[in-house]
Parts: sequence; structure tokens; C-alpha cells
Amino acid sequence: MPELPEVEVTRRGVAPYLEGRVVSAVTLRHEGLRWPFPADLDRRICGHRIRITRRRGKYLLIEFDHGTLIVHLGMSGHLRVLPKDTPPQKHDHFDMEVDDQVLRMTDPRRFGAVLWHGREDGAIDEHLLLRGLGVEPLEEAFSAQLLYRQTRKRSAAIKQVLLAGDIVVGVGNIYASESLFKAGINPKTAASRIGLARYEKLVTAIRETLAAAIAKGGSTLRDFMAVNGQPGYFQQSYFVYDRADQPCRVCGGLVRQLKQGQRSTFYCPNCQK
Ligand code: ZN
Repeated sequence: MPELPEVEVTRRGVAPYLEGRVVSAVTLRHEGLRWPFPADLDRRICGHRIRITRRRGKYLLIEFDHGTLIVHLGMSGHLRVLPKDTPPQKHDHFDMEVDDQVLRMTDPRRFGAVLWHGREDGAIDEHLLLRGLGVEPLEEAFSAQLLYRQTRKRSAAIKQVLLAGDIVVGVGNIYASESLFKAGINPKTAASRIGLARYEKLVTAIRETLAAAIAKGGSTLRDFMAVNGQPGYFQQSYFVYDRADQPCRVCGGLVRQLKQGQRSTFYCPNCQK
């Protein structure tokens, strides 16, 4: 499943082909993905110039003067920029032509989304899907003080609090396990019982983990131009994630797996207290 680093790498990959350019055509090959495609999408954006691209959590925002196209990759989606005459494949549901290229969305499981938010509907950050999102983990607003302050009354496990996304967005299942390992914090610890010093370590670990994943993904950027290549989500070597019963890379003890809110958590009981 694409997480924040994949979405950010996707944004960086497609931005040079979109920003400052005018949309010439839109093709929809399905009635919708997770939700129906917006009515009259071609009429809304054809002939309009794309100002910038942004990312908020796992949402890619393609901004025009008169509104914003919101794209979410869901469970299995990806975006590529291809020559305009590239024949579509089975799961290619959305095309947006820009100059002689096409931005193409492939989404086999169709949990992704393409939505339109007109300027007349208000500020994009107030959109129903965006307004409850916490701060961006790579921006300055994310700090140990913020985590500390907002968890004084949260008795839920820290892993669950990170995944909830209302304090900080984009720390998904993989990166929560990895960051808690690097910070030496047991994922079952009640968020309210973690002090400022440990939150300092956690913030640093989250920033480093996400930044490293983005840097790693950056090396696959040219895949966004490949006609036949399927840009797989980056395979990385993890400290604990998906390593149940294997030796911890730091202490040699066995990595354990547990379920927290239906999601698997991986941790080292020796290294994480
Ligand atoms: Zn260990």
C-alpha cells in the first residue's frame, strides 16, 4: 500500500510534467474508483493551467486557479507520466493529457480516488477528507512538544496514536513500527506515559525514517516515465517490520509480532522498553 514516502516520490516524479502546463483532455474508463469520478471533470479542468502540486498526508493535490484535483492512490494505485499515444492497460482508469504526455492512474483494486474541489467550495484544507488531518511529519510544526501536549490524556498505545493520524499524518503501519524501534519505545506503551525526552527521540526517528524512504524512492523516479515498467513500491530493509521471529539487527534477540487494532506490529522487546 502506498504510504507517505511513495506519495511524495510520486508527487516529485510527476510535478515537472504538470506544473505550469495546460490540461488538454481527460479520459475516464470506469465510473469511478472508491467514489464516482466527478461529473463533467473534463469540462472543469480542460483548458486550465495547473499551478502547483502539493501533498497533504497521502493525498496528492493538483492545484488550479479555480480549484484542486485531489488524488489518492488507495491500496494499489500508482501514477505515471507516459507519451500520449501509449495504449491503456486493463486497470488504467484515469488519464489527464498535458501537452504531449498523459498522466495515467492505474488502480487494480479501485480503492483510490480522484475528486474535484472547486474554489467556490472554500479552502482546500477545509475539505472533508483533509480538515481532520494532523500536522505533516516533515514540517516544523511536528515536534516533541506537540506530541507530548496532545497525548497527556491519551491512554491508547503509542503505535495506535501514531496511526490515528489526528496528531501527525502519514506515519503508516510500516513507519510506525520502524520509528518506535529506532526510538527504543515499546509500541504498547500508553501515549500518556511517554515523557518529553522520549518524544524527542521519536520525532527524530520518524523524520529520519520517512526521509530515508523518500530518498530511497527518489532513485526510482525515472520509472514514472517507463512505458512498460511497473513502479513497485520501494523494497527496503527494515529493522523490525515483517521480521517476526528473526534476530533483531541490534541485539540479536527475536523480533516479535502482535496485533494492535487489526494491524500487525513488529518490535524487539529487548531494545524497546
Ligand atoms: Zn533488539
